[in-house]
Amino acid sequence: MATLEIRDLHVTVEADNATKEILKGVDLTVKQGETHAIMGPNGSGKSTLAYSLAGHPKYTITEGTVTLDGEDVLEMSVDERARAGLFLAMQYPVEVPGVSVSNFLRTSATAIRGEAPKLRTWIKEVKEAMQHLNMDPAFAERNVNEGFSGGEKKRHEILQLELLKPKIAILDETDSGLDVDALRVVSEGVNRVRETGEVGTLLITHYTRILRYVKPDHVHVFAGGRIAESGGPELADKLEAEGYEAYTKGGVSA
Ligand code: ADP
Ligand code: MG
Ligand code: MG
Repeated sequence: MATLEIRDLHVTVEADNATKEILKGVDLTVKQGETHAIMGPNGSGKSTLAYSLAGHPKYTITEGTVTLDGEDVLEMSVDERARAGLFLAMQYPVEVPGVSVSNFLRTSATAIRGEAPKLRTWIKEVKEAMQHLNMDPAFAERNVNEGFSGGEKKRHEILQLELLKPKIAILDETDSGLDVDALRVVSEGVNRVRETGEVGTLLITHYTRILRYVKPDHVHVFAGGRIAESGGPELADKLEAEGYEAYTKGGVSA
């Protein structure tokens, strides 16, 4: 079983000619087959964690380690991270003019599997995954992210998740854009890959409402650049009822 281990992760960003520490010692272990939710107030550093794991150049790791089955993830290029089995939803946020969704997916799958999927079975795989997501087959011929609505971006993200079959998936839901429809797509996708038992999921979100559709095995409260509390699904119920106030009082938040 693949294991992602984050140990004492400290991350800084440059802003306004100053270096600001955003992550202040994050510890987290995610195993294949587990579903974790990271919840926390706005500005607590959740997206910074996701970007840092994705290898975004704006974020500097100053301390700590990230390993996947003992391999140093922080030393890997973005491509190597994908090949190692890490899926980072914000990895492809850009428009890719002239590259269709279907070509993009096949190229990604080729890079990750080390060989091109056989065309006949691949077309079937894509078709089935798109049916699961109630996607119009015409979507496969559109250019990646060109004019995608928020919901279409989410569908594309989950389509990648289903087809690329990562070991560990990190989904930063950047909540503001998630309407009820997109929320359902994400939730159903997460639940479907979860049933395979082969994907470990780290679902990062501000709102507790997604937890009505996805029941995580582990819930972590993120505040002030680190995990303030961890628990089981009951912690999500507590957050839903009480919010994050208990974690942001006394200047704990970033
Ligand atoms: P969350 O996702 O929990 O809302 P973020 O990780 O987006 O939090 O932001 C945490 C803090 O780090 C905020 O104060 C934010 O302004 C700051 N921050 C994050 N990314 C950058 C960046 N690229 N440049 C400057 N400041 C940043
Ligand atoms: Mg430390
Ligand atoms: Mg965020």
